[in-house]
Amino acid sequence: MRVTVIGAGIVGSAIAFHLARRGTQVTLLDADKPGMGASSHSFAWINAFGKEPRHYNELNRRSLDTWDRYARLLNADVGLRWGGQLTWSATDEDAEWLRENVAKLQSWGYIARLIDEAQLVHLEPGLRPGPVSAAAISENDGHVLGTKAAQVASRRVAELGGLVRLNPPALGLDVSGKEIAAVQVESESIDCDAVVLAAGVTTTEIAGTANVEVPQYESPGVVVKTNSLPQLIESASVLYAPPISEDQPEIHIRQGADGVVMIGEGTQESLARDDSQEHADRLLARAAHYLPALSAAQAIPVPVGYRPMPRDEMPILGFTESVPNLYIALTHSGITLAPLIGEFATMEILDGARIDLLDPFRLERFV
Ligand SMILES: Cc1cc2nc3c(=O)[nH]c(=O)nc-3n(C[C@H](O)[C@H](O)[C@H](O)COP(=O)(O)OP(=O)(O)OC[C@H]3O[C@@H](n4cnc5c(N)ncnc54)[C@H](O)[C@@H]3O)c2cc1C
Repeated sequence: MRVTVIGAGIVGSAIAFHLARRGTQVTLLDADKPGMGASSHSFAWINAFGKEPRHYNELNRRSLDTWDRYARLLNADVGLRWGGQLTWSATDEDAEWLRENVAKLQSWGYIARLIDEAQLVHLEPGLRPGPVSAAAISENDGHVLGTKAAQVASRRVAELGGLVRLNPPALGLDVSGKEIAAVQVESESIDCDAVVLAAGVTTTEIAGTANVEVPQYESPGVVVKTNSLPQLIESASVLYAPPISEDQPEIHIRQGADGVVMIGEGTQESLARDDSQEHADRLLARAAHYLPALSAAQAIPVPVGYRPMPRDEMPILGFTESVPNLYIALTHSGITLAPLIGEFATMEILDGARIDLLDPFRLERFV
């Protein structure tokens, strides 16, 4: 079977990797280098802590559990680090939300629990949390280097006999009868039996060339990085800190395997466009309020990134009904979800499986 995968971000490269492992004739296309789309702008936190409803939480949690296996299969250090998310609140109102959320996650079987202030500081001795009205740890959460994972997976595709073609962008899909017969790249057509469309924000435009509507909205986001620093977060993978003042959102902080600290604000879906040095300096100062060791760090702004974002914020996964050999893989939280999507998509494409866990995430829900 000849499968063309469009997009070598963390999602497309994971699908191409699993297809190639099973001997499929894979062509992996990217308009740039692997992992340079949303995957390179990402906070790259592997979690399910704030993810609802339950079936979406379940999908994220399963993928979180799949990450170790995926990293092992890739057989390279992709910066995968565990340790858990530490969250705390400063006000009574936020404490109530945190307690309720932990109780709900526990009822879903998610590994999370409330801790007290002494335990919080014991886990992270460098932390100055300020007033603590409630605190929690979800021990299974981790993070990874998104671009590196996409690069390694793409390299493995080539080693497994797949064709990785970088640079000329896929221009469109040639439909013959009901199915896609080829993918257009510059003046050439690449014949194929199935197409996986994992082109991030560009997915909508490319699907449109086969008259398939993939609804997305624009979701800009900004993270800030620092220079590489000695280890200053002891055990946690992510610190999720409350707002310092009422007019500011919460912030999240992590330190990667490369020593670089990354800071984001608001939730994982918050819209932000300010990628100026001034904003980066302000965000770093807020992070240093909680982690004084950051005071001497340098803030490095990351250009605004655009999350692939289906209109209802839930993943779009699976073959489409109108063009049966077109497989869409479009999702926010793709860093968390890529390993599971890679395995599930491969079973659906090669084995003709229909995985019912993916049923809530089919494109046809928008019809
Ligand atoms: C600020 C920010 C913070 C985030 N934080 C998190 C987080 O903490 N945890 C988490 O799980 N997720 C997070 N995300 C979301 C996550 O990064 C994305 O869901 C994920 O990177 C999507 O991966 P992808 O492979 O689908 O898309 P991309 O990484 O965008 O890859 C798509 C690829 O398609 C290629 N492409 C596009 N058009 C064409 C074409 N015509 N022809 C060929 N190739 C093409 C691009 O070059 C690109 O390489 C965050 C995103 C942002 C922006």
